[in-house]
Amino acid sequence: MATPMMKQYHDIKSKHPDEILLFRMGDFYETFFDDARIVSNALGIALTSREKNKTTGDGIPLAGFPYHALDSYLTRLVRAGFRIAICEQVEDPKEAKGIVQREVVEVITPGTLISGSALDEKKTILLCSAVDDLKTHRSGITTCDLSTGEVRATEVDISERNEELSRIAPVEILIHEGSGIIPPPGCDVTEIEAWKFDLDTSIDTVKRQFKLATLEGIDLKQSDIATRATGALLSYICETKKSVMSHLGFSGFYRRDQFMVIDRSTAKSLNLIEAPEGEESSILADATDSTVTSAGARMWRRWLLAPPVNSSVIIERHKAVEVLTDRDLSEKIQSGLYKCTDLQRQAGKLGSLKSNPRDLKAIANTAEFLPGFVMLLEDAPSRRLNSIAQIDTIQDIAEEIDKILIDEPPFRINEGGMIKPGIDPVLDELRDIHSGGKEWIRRLEVSEREKTGIPKLTIGFNRVFGYYIEVTRSYLDRIPEYFERKQTLVNAERFITPELKEMERRVLNAEEEILEIEIRIFCDLRTRIAESVERIKATGLVLAELDVLTSLGVLADSQRYMKPEISETICLEITEGKHPVLDIVLPRGECVPNDVILNCDRRILTITGPNMAGKSTYLREAALLLIIAQAGSFVPAAKMKFSPCDRIFTRIGSSDRIISGQSTFLVEMAEAAILLNSSTARSLAILDEVGRGTSTFDGLSLAWAIVEFLHDHPVHRPMVMFATHYHELTALAGQLDAVFNLNVAVRETGKEVIFLYRVMDGGADRSYGIHVASMAGVPDEVVKRAGRILTDLEKGKHLEIDGLETHNGIRESQLELPLQSPEHPVLEEIRNMDPDELTPRRALELIYILKKMLE
Ligand code: ADP
Ligand code: MG
Repeated sequence: MATPMMKQYHDIKSKHPDEILLFRMGDFYETFFDDARIVSNALGIALTSREKNKTTGDGIPLAGFPYHALDSYLTRLVRAGFRIAICEQVEDPKEAKGIVQREVVEVITPGTLISGSALDEKKTILLCSAVDDLKTHRSGITTCDLSTGEVRATEVDISERNEELSRIAPVEILIHEGSGIIPPPGCDVTEIEAWKFDLDTSIDTVKRQFKLATLEGIDLKQSDIATRATGALLSYICETKKSVMSHLGFSGFYRRDQFMVIDRSTAKSLNLIEAPEGEESSILADATDSTVTSAGARMWRRWLLAPPVNSSVIIERHKAVEVLTDRDLSEKIQSGLYKCTDLQRQAGKLGSLKSNPRDLKAIANTAEFLPGFVMLLEDAPSRRLNSIAQIDTIQDIAEEIDKILIDEPPFRINEGGMIKPGIDPVLDELRDIHSGGKEWIRRLEVSEREKTGIPKLTIGFNRVFGYYIEVTRSYLDRIPEYFERKQTLVNAERFITPELKEMERRVLNAEEEILEIEIRIFCDLRTRIAESVERIKATGLVLAELDVLTSLGVLADSQRYMKPEISETICLEITEGKHPVLDIVLPRGECVPNDVILNCDRRILTITGPNMAGKSTYLREAALLLIIAQAGSFVPAAKMKFSPCDRIFTRIGSSDRIISGQSTFLVEMAEAAILLNSSTARSLAILDEVGRGTSTFDGLSLAWAIVEFLHDHPVHRPMVMFATHYHELTALAGQLDAVFNLNVAVRETGKEVIFLYRVMDGGADRSYGIHVASMAGVPDEVVKRAGRILTDLEKGKHLEIDGLETHNGIRESQLELPLQSPEHPVLEEIRNMDPDELTPRRALELIYILKKMLE
């Protein structure tokens, strides 16, 4: 027979089969059965048991932790991918008849975390919902950052849906059963009922949650499918949070063509905000981040992942940054920002009524600095900064908080001592009684000492007995009649008197009432302030933007960056540009600057050169400079001119680590396919060693065909930078007008190779690999023979092939493809080897193998 409490547990648990139920029991959160096993495993806490079953002798598995440790344990459980239901005691145990009532007050999932240590200050955590309309072939996607309350929505073609989801990279996605939507990797999936995505239901939910009479006022109106995704998302939040979420607000409907699309794998391979797994490399967002607030740090990362395409937006940002390169100004702004709280996340806590007294005070303290920003910026020669100067300085909100809360209130509400005197007459009176009572007790101590003549008589307090008079053993003979014995210790006895108990009752009552009143006043204040949550959030957004722009000003000033120029015609032209991360991590002057010239006439660059010469770095330099410039930053270059780019495609990554095999090649070709199908004249493609994942022939032919296609296609004609170890590709420059060859120079001095990291016009010296073979100790015979084969290949082996199918009729005649006859196996072997990777022993073995092959 289950106890009533276990019955209550089972009732509640049955409604939360997918969640781990944290069941509040007094000062502990307990878990039972399978939950207990999971929790004990995941957290490394003891698994015990309770209520041994009398017949079987088995106990109920149990694992728990004290309530004040909730935050840190919750962090670990959510990070480990679990969904958590928090079940609290919802009535005062003292007043409960029978067992205490309990209720699940909140469900926490990876995407619905609002506060606590699980929230990385610099990371944006997104919950997302997606739904398809098969009739119109459109897909609606809504995202929400619950920690700040920002909700955004978009509508895309179904074919673009997965790409957009992977770009958003949410931690949790809501879809309905059978939707067929494949979540991006590393994202938790939550299936909800299909009707929650119904249009009418959704419109109701959206109106209710955003407190709107109609949808006319928000731009969500333009998309039914996005409205459906939004409705489902909001209803899910209401269900899991089970409390008000007044900070949720619609931040806008966006279209993918409003910003440069940088998909997840591109962001990763360019190390924009994180490095690929298992790689420790420097990250662009970190290297370029001089923000002083976490809201600013988050915003900079968002800007990097989605630079605007609208020239005037970019230009306005550049102008603001220019003004903020003034060190005096930026220092003043930063020293103010530095003391500001994260208003966006404060709005999140406030909206769900989770703010503690310190939080409210932090909002008020932040308001102090806002008028200062206004003064600094209202006359600045930048429209962006002038509009920042229009910031709502929330002085009225701060005043209200300051009027009520003392200067340094405690963190926890139930500690009390947070309300100023003069706010509530009853509170003041009780405080008088309380302190008067304490004073009275202090005086009692003195008078009792005199009366009894016991010099060591003291009055103390503990939670069990309340106030007591303590007398050490040696004076026990002087105890008067009216002392009632209460407790015996080793060296002393404790007593009470009726008088003392009466005063104690008054003091303790007063204390309890004081706390009650303080909590009431605080909660009222919080609810009132929460009505202004939208204003606080908006001010937070402006501060974050100011932080980012100032950070860019500081960066431009300290690193001597130049202001880029926006071009009407398509181009990416950089003079003496430096890889922005390398420039910062290398000692000053060691990063070698290079030019990039891409425009309509010079649209495809092939870059050849030996390993480690700097090809990949050069490609990334171009992409990264474009991204930061378009995001609003100045650049480490003498000069830069660019046209806003709609999308960057990359094929980098695994190619740099020597990996072979189908899977890599498949990934490579999948990325190539996206490029070939979706690029436009406004795109930039960065191709690093395409074809490395397969045999020389396959790889070379594919690379060749890709360049041809991109050169000739009427629509898919992006600017392309193509680093390759296939020297044969340099032949393309002679045949296709817009293709140009570059190479990265190295100097050989005797037995040493010096890397110059200088990019120059023309193809690389083909015989370089053979030189290296020679330096590595490959016998002269082999080196000489290789040289002869190479010359042969260069001279005579480019065979003309006619009559092959023309490609969409775009090319009139097929170009000659080099290397029609298979390469000599020895040459292929030499070509494939990487001298830098060879141990002396392995080199010697290779020589034996090569010799054998020549026999
Ligand atoms: P590749 O792709 O040609 O094999 P990388 O671009 O990977 O060569 O460059 C190899 C290393 O050379 C980089 O890690 C970097 O340390 C250095 N390097 C490359 N380019 C530069 C440069 N412009 N200035 C200074 N060092 C550079
Ligand atoms: Mg490389």
